[in-house]
Amino acid sequence: MIEYTLNRKKVKNINLRVKRDGSVVVSANPKVPVEYINKFVSSKEEWIIKSIEKFREIEDKRRVEKGKIQILGEIYKLEDISIGEDKIDKWIREKARLEFHQSIKRMLPLLKEYNIKAPTFKIRKMKTRWGSCIKNKNSITLNMELIKYPREVIDYVVLHELVHFVHFDHSKNFYNLLEGLMPDWKERRESL
Ligand SMILES: [Zn+2]
Repeated sequence: MIEYTLNRKKVKNINLRVKRDGSVVVSANPKVPVEYINKFVSSKEEWIIKSIEKFREIEDKRRVEKGKIQILGEIYKLEDISIGEDKIDKWIREKARLEFHQSIKRMLPLLKEYNIKAPTFKIRKMKTRWGSCIKNKNSITLNMELIKYPREVIDYVVLHELVHFVHFDHSKNFYNLLEGLMPDWKERRESL
């Protein structure tokens, strides 16, 4: 699903733009119906996702080039944490492994009554998803990028994946359970 800002303007048809911050802006003539615009945006989905990824990569590079990294919602200078740029990837991965493990430990007890076993987890650099799960392998995969976000946000993604062990799809039951366990999940998700 692609979220976009719609500007009603006297343009000829529809103009679509992906901004540097990854937001999508559509300008359309007031006469063009919203359903038509939605279809148009959907038809450009692949291009939009690619553009967002491209900007994200540029942004990531820029951060490292400037000698800064973001961990748990805070930005650090590499010189302050005294880690060389050659070791930083490994250091971030270790940090992510520890934090994601702790998040699973925090979130799992919320699902106590469903008797879910602690899943194994993998960390990957994923382009379009924050997490995924394989129910019959009892495993979840988390996006390495998540380590940039505060713990509340990591917890939301982890809980989301854990709830999939109870309800595999994004059905109403899935969201009811998620909402019951984490009433502010939408706010947590906002920064993602
Ligand atoms: Zn899901």
